[in-house]
Amino acid sequence: MAVLPYKRVLVKLSGEALMGGEAFGIDRATVRRIAEDVIEAVKLGVEVAVVVGGGNIFRGSQIAGMGLSRPAADSMGMLATAMNVIALEAQLASLGQSARAMSGVAMPSVVETYTRQQAMEHLAKDRVVLLAGGTGNPFFTTDTGGALRAAELECNVLMKGTQVDGIYSADPKKDPAATRYDHITHDEVIRKDLKIMDTAAFALAREARLPIIVFSIQQPGSLAAVLRGEGRCTLVTP
Ligand code: UDP
Repeated sequence: MAVLPYKRVLVKLSGEALMGGEAFGIDRATVRRIAEDVIEAVKLGVEVAVVVGGGNIFRGSQIAGMGLSRPAADSMGMLATAMNVIALEAQLASLGQSARAMSGVAMPSVVETYTRQQAMEHLAKDRVVLLAGGTGNPFFTTDTGGALRAAELECNVLMKGTQVDGIYSADPKKDPAATRYDHITHDEVIRKDLKIMDTAAFALAREARLPIIVFSIQQPGSLAAVLRGEGRCTLVTP
């Protein structure tokens, strides 16, 4: 097996990645395909942690108001992320891959409560660690949760799975002249005002000097391909 530059990675998936062609919720076939992609990455010898969003079910900022405070709405959003990791954990298990769902919001009868130490132990035992609850606090996003967990779990890279295969000079779905960057620095991302994740998430990644890979999660097999250095993506480094 070729030696990969990454020993441990954190993959950030938005909740929408689990919707497939549906408008809401969890599409079983899509969850299975993503689980297969994660297993392919594990088979390369990489330790994998996954932070999953909840936007396919609830986004706090969209539902707050009319008697629902933002912290209450964000709690609902964080619970949505737990539903997603439970689905992914079950799918990984049914494919024979050992995985542990953990949550930054304590719900011990449902999933393990996240502690850094326990997550590290799972990763060392080649279990996929699925992280729900984002940062565990309202007013944040799971992108920030992804950057936070990647930094504290000493991941070599934060891999953000998106609808497109990297960072473009403009939205490639709207502007046919948009070009994709193979490599860019954190500082250039700020200077060019490229939007790859929210400001808090990006600031944390930059501060921690955490490389970021933006790749397409829509493309089956692209996670492993990118890890092997073959897939299309954008690499952000300090
Ligand atoms: N959320 C939160 N704190 C966090 C992460 C998430 O309160 O640290 C809530 C927030 O309401 C958010 C929702 O959970 O809208 C779902 O997360 P996110 O919007 O990041 O999901 P994604 O867009 O990645 O699917």
